[in-house]
Amino acid sequence: MPVQKVDKIWMNGTLVNWDDAKIHVLSHVVHYGTSWFEGIRCYETPKGPAVFRLDRHIRRLFDSVKIYRTEIPYTEKQITEACLETVRANRMRACYIRPIVYRGYGDVGVNPLPCPVDVAIAVWEWGTYLGPEALTEGIDVCVSTWNRPAPNTLPTMAKAGGNYILSQLMKVEALQAGFKEAIALDVNGQVSEGSGENLFAVKDGVILTPWLASSLLPGITRVSVLQIARELGYEVREVTMPRELLYVADELFFTGTAAEVTPIRSVDRQKVGDGKPGPLTMKLQAAFFDIVKNGKDPHGWLKYV
Ligand code: PMP
Repeated sequence: MPVQKVDKIWMNGTLVNWDDAKIHVLSHVVHYGTSWFEGIRCYETPKGPAVFRLDRHIRRLFDSVKIYRTEIPYTEKQITEACLETVRANRMRACYIRPIVYRGYGDVGVNPLPCPVDVAIAVWEWGTYLGPEALTEGIDVCVSTWNRPAPNTLPTMAKAGGNYILSQLMKVEALQAGFKEAIALDVNGQVSEGSGENLFAVKDGVILTPWLASSLLPGITRVSVLQIARELGYEVREVTMPRELLYVADELFFTGTAAEVTPIRSVDRQKVGDGKPGPLTMKLQAAFFDIVKNGKDPHGWLKYV
């Protein structure tokens, strides 16, 4: 679905009109993927619009940039406030928030250091990422022929623009083969994550998710769901996950800001469990939505706009 225009985009400290939020074609980011970004959701709750774990997202943005020995010319507090200001300026109720830090116009060599570090924040309306029925019916996925980056190549803890060229290979391959999404393995053949989601499995009542060293992004939904599951009394383990677990798991689901908690009903055309969203998945999904949509927020994860 094409993005729906809103009024304003925050660029380097000022709110500019949507149509004026432009960069030069020779900006470093265009050529070399030199950007770091976040995807954050603002939910409409009974007490008004609220952003989910904004502080965590901004922290991860600063971590992503730090991995690349770059400095954002604003504080975390300033970027946090700018996100809220952009939501307010566009009078959004529920929306997606995209802060992006990028190397701009200046030099065209690979060395990014001479180029300015620019920051923009855009917001737009975004519904269910993996299709209208994904959350209730589950989705069909495949194991990608593409692997996630080997250790000590592209750092996957950084949410860097360049990483998503690999996500695109995975996504297009999956879509063209008739799947909604792909699961990638790491370079050792262990389960890593989706093109833009973390993965969970349920086996014999235990909740399992690949550990951080399996080339994945430390998802904020992932860590939230891990906490919710523990609080509900489930045993939760971060593991090295063999591929074959995908085929014998009782339940599988994706987590992510975009995907929220999305059940997976088949992998490589083989049913997961009985081919319907699993009971534990739906329980965790309900607990997650109770926080973000009903505003029942015992952890203080919502930041009211
Ligand atoms: N993995 C990748 C590659 C992603 O792009 C995302 C989305 N940011 C996730 C996992 C899920 O992370 P989060 O829950 O923080 O959105």
